[in-house]
Amino acid sequence: MQAVADSEGANFKIAAHDWRFYAEKLRRERYDLDQSALAAYFQLDRMIAAAFYVAEKLFGLRFAPRDDLPTYHPEVRAYEVLDREGEHVAVFLGDYYARSAKRSGAWMSNFRGQSNLDGPVRPLIVNVMNFPKPPAGRPALLTLTEVQTLFHEFGHALHGMLSNVVYPSMSGTSTPTDFVEFPSQLYEHWVLQPEILRLFALHCDTGEPLPAPMIELVIAASRFNQGFATVEFCASALVDFKLHSKSYENLDVEAEEHAILHDIAMPDEIVMRHRTPHFSHVFSGESYAAGYYSYLWSEQLDADGFAAFEEAGDIFDPATAERLKNFVYSAGNQRDPKAAYAAFRGRPPQPEALLRKKGFA
Ligand SMILES: [Zn+2]
Repeated sequence: MQAVADSEGANFKIAAHDWRFYAEKLRRERYDLDQSALAAYFQLDRMIAAAFYVAEKLFGLRFAPRDDLPTYHPEVRAYEVLDREGEHVAVFLGDYYARSAKRSGAWMSNFRGQSNLDGPVRPLIVNVMNFPKPPAGRPALLTLTEVQTLFHEFGHALHGMLSNVVYPSMSGTSTPTDFVEFPSQLYEHWVLQPEILRLFALHCDTGEPLPAPMIELVIAASRFNQGFATVEFCASALVDFKLHSKSYENLDVEAEEHAILHDIAMPDEIVMRHRTPHFSHVFSGESYAAGYYSYLWSEQLDADGFAAFEEAGDIFDPATAERLKNFVYSAGNQRDPKAAYAAFRGRPPQPEALLRKKGFA
């Protein structure tokens, strides 16, 4: 970045407030992905089919369209989810397009959770997205980020749909904050697998699959600037931990933040992701207090978890998938998540796969 600045005749040393500006210049120089050219390969309907395909290969699920079921809006798609034996598992609703009355963002929710307390109750699960609705006669096209969001929320949906526990309070996604993103983030790993891209990432006009050089560029681009991203994140997570590790009488926020950053040897060229006065994770509620680390922790789990399939030499390895279903996707919160993870993986989580994913290894 300093070389870029120098070549433009900027007569200064790159500082923290310059980072994003010059990182973006560097990113364009090295990984100039044409997002609209890429989106032509990601048709919404095919990406939904891809998410269903992965669930069938891993867990034996089939998604039967049920246009006869009543929904709360005509655009909502309804499916009955069946297992290998044709037994009913869940009802899945997909509500994909943005509408003026819809809250923004993307999420999974349930209209009815699973339980076995008073006889078997199977879940009714919904995924809600805000993808732009295409003009009539044209397919809806997604950016890569939107495809990853689709898979992410579908991972949460599977966590709800496959749930098989006794108590309603422990079913589906009712797990601790630092575990609940594991099933969803893990599912994102299948998006960029060659088998999935070859079958589903087909150009909307030509039907050609996504070219290999474009796939390589996408993967290389995903590792750009990860050192910065990880340091800025860890700074906020460590400040969050340290602020919660002692009591304060008259907290001087600025001085305390400064002292903590000094203790962790924060580089001058990078600032925290969230400065303390607006870092609502730290002080505005209990769910995330001292819990900001959970994003990176979940990333370690998903990277290490997906590595189990890579080590087995098959992204749909049946034995690994069976353990994943038994100990994670169907297990709700009935087991300590640490024990559940170890039962799935055969050991506690390790950071090596995360370091590889971020390009640090
Ligand atoms: Zn999530």
